[in-house]
Amino acid sequence: MKIHEYQAKEILRKYGVAVPQGYPATTVKQALKAAEKLGGKVWVVKAQIHAGGRGKGGGVKIAKSKKQVEDLAKKMLGMTLVTHQTGPQGKKVRKLLIEQGVNIERELYVGITLDRAQSKNVVMVSTEGGVEIEKVAAETPEKILKETVEPAIGLQAYQARKLAFGLGLEGVQFKNAVKFLLALYKAYEATDASLAEINPLVVTKEGDVLALDAKMNF
Ligand code: GDP
Ligand code: MN
Repeated sequence: MKIHEYQAKEILRKYGVAVPQGYPATTVKQALKAAEKLGGKVWVVKAQIHAGGRGKGGGVKIAKSKKQVEDLAKKMLGMTLVTHQTGPQGKKVRKLLIEQGVNIERELYVGITLDRAQSKNVVMVSTEGGVEIEKVAAETPEKILKETVEPAIGLQAYQARKLAFGLGLEGVQFKNAVKFLLALYKAYEATDASLAEINPLVVTKEGDVLALDAKMNF
């Protein structure tokens, strides 16, 4: 079963995984209300469809005023979004996620899934976030680091540290990444998910480590 990004983020938040603040909206009025509740100066309007590649397809837009949030919501709600994952017929946008804008320093990748060959969960990270992981796996597989999880023990702190170190993180970013990975694994395990994929996982200039996108399958 697939769920939307906003639903995955609601689950992750419950398990202490850092995600940007945001609210779903099915009408322009709700989108505007969401922007008002969030406050700040930059918002991101994100189409909620069961497919990736929304950024390139026009389903993820930055708004720098509430008027822009309104205009983007008007444009996106009801539109048929075509991405490389939807097929040529596209998918109709019925829901949006309005989020606070985030100051991105680096875009990373983290994914957790079951490795069928070992019957164990594997946590994968890469410095090549924001791009398709299939492409990274095919062209530069050495840029994907993996830790296999012992089912009886779960993801251990030393494994999370190894992954965070491999991402080239230091200081507060390193500490937050370790915390993020441990919480993400907990969420994946507790909800019996078959996939938890964060692409991109972002590091902000302030040192926060956040799930900018979230995909969970069950
Ligand atoms: P996908 O294309 O369907 O995977 O959608 P994502 O949620 O991954 O968003 C695509 C891209 O939009 C990300 O890789 C970011 O570069 C950009 N993006 C998303 N949210 C923000 C944000 O809050 N601030 C900025 N500056 N960029 C964002
Ligand atoms: Mn993404």
